[in-house]
Amino acid sequence: MFQYRPERILIDKAVAAEPLTLQICERFPDVPRQVVENFAWHQDESGVDPLRNPLTKGKKTLHLKYFKGTSIKACPGFSNELVCCNYFTLDLIENCPFECTYCILQAFLNKPVITVHANLEEILEQVRQRTAAQPDTLFRVGTGEHSDSLALDHILGIKAHVIRFFAKLPNALLELKTKSKHVEHLLDLPHGGKTVISWSVNPEAIVEQEEHKTARLHERLEAARKASAAGYKVAFHFDPMIHYPDWEKGYQDLVDQILDAVPADRIAWISLGTLRYISSLKSVVDERFPNSSIFLGEFVPGEDGKMRYLKKIRQRLFRNVQQRIEKLAPQIPTYLCMEKSSLWEKTMPYQPQTAPEVEEKLAASLRKRFPVEA
Ligand code: SF4
Repeated sequence: MFQYRPERILIDKAVAAEPLTLQICERFPDVPRQVVENFAWHQDESGVDPLRNPLTKGKKTLHLKYFKGTSIKACPGFSNELVCCNYFTLDLIENCPFECTYCILQAFLNKPVITVHANLEEILEQVRQRTAAQPDTLFRVGTGEHSDSLALDHILGIKAHVIRFFAKLPNALLELKTKSKHVEHLLDLPHGGKTVISWSVNPEAIVEQEEHKTARLHERLEAARKASAAGYKVAFHFDPMIHYPDWEKGYQDLVDQILDAVPADRIAWISLGTLRYISSLKSVVDERFPNSSIFLGEFVPGEDGKMRYLKKIRQRLFRNVQQRIEKLAPQIPTYLCMEKSSLWEKTMPYQPQTAPEVEEKLAASLRKRFPVEA
């Protein structure tokens, strides 16, 4: 894994005096910084032409931004056709220093810099109000929608504030989803059982081939072991599962490796999802990662417009992992990410029709298995 260090920091005037801005600037005392009125990367005057080398070079700029919008939102996976898990996302960072070949952000984000939403107190106040408005709902809130939750956190130190904040919310769980190994800075925090640290996982062969700059599989599992020993609930996301030549054994071994590393009773949930992509991603990946194998195979468009493996392939991939989990740790709840109800048939132990059904299943499991913390 590599160490991230920005080449410059751009600071929106509106957040120049925010505590998070001062904290981040203190951590990079030698990095040039500039206060800006309205940063627009395509008008950037730094001498870097973002259109020529937009993604890798762009990530060297750290932009501390005043975030104006609604920070907590229903997961964009939600749709009438797909069974979602009723998840909420909290936007704190945009873009990611890792280089997964399949990363949808390459085709999705309209600027290549790494952006931190620095008006953190205002953002968290929105979360307080949103969760208070529905006191009987358990909000599961993830910060890994537009970035990796922990890739930069040991350097920027944002999540400690967020973990402390969620520890005091009665009806919310924070999920930090990552491919990083950096958890040391979180281990002693008063998380109150309200934070789940989760890892996106793949067999080591896929990590090596497709998940550049991330922590190796054994490093992620060692980090999960440490987090679980520190009292955090942990979770795993088999996502995106790849249909590669050794997939059957590779994913079964992965279940075994997880259960060797972490006690099953500390695993809050496991989700399964296969590779999906918007068609505009393909040309970006072909250009940036010519050795990638992710587009090998046959794909079909889904209801949400994203390309997926054929249904029978997806079912085989899911069933293989689900059966292994059921055999070794049946108490761990599992769910499919962004799939139609019909995909759950012959694959999963139950067939929900709606997102609230999935949510209730997960919430019931948490109440039963973690009665004090949930
Ligand atoms: S870790 Fe996630 S956000 Fe970062 S490059 Fe990989 S897929 Fe994209």
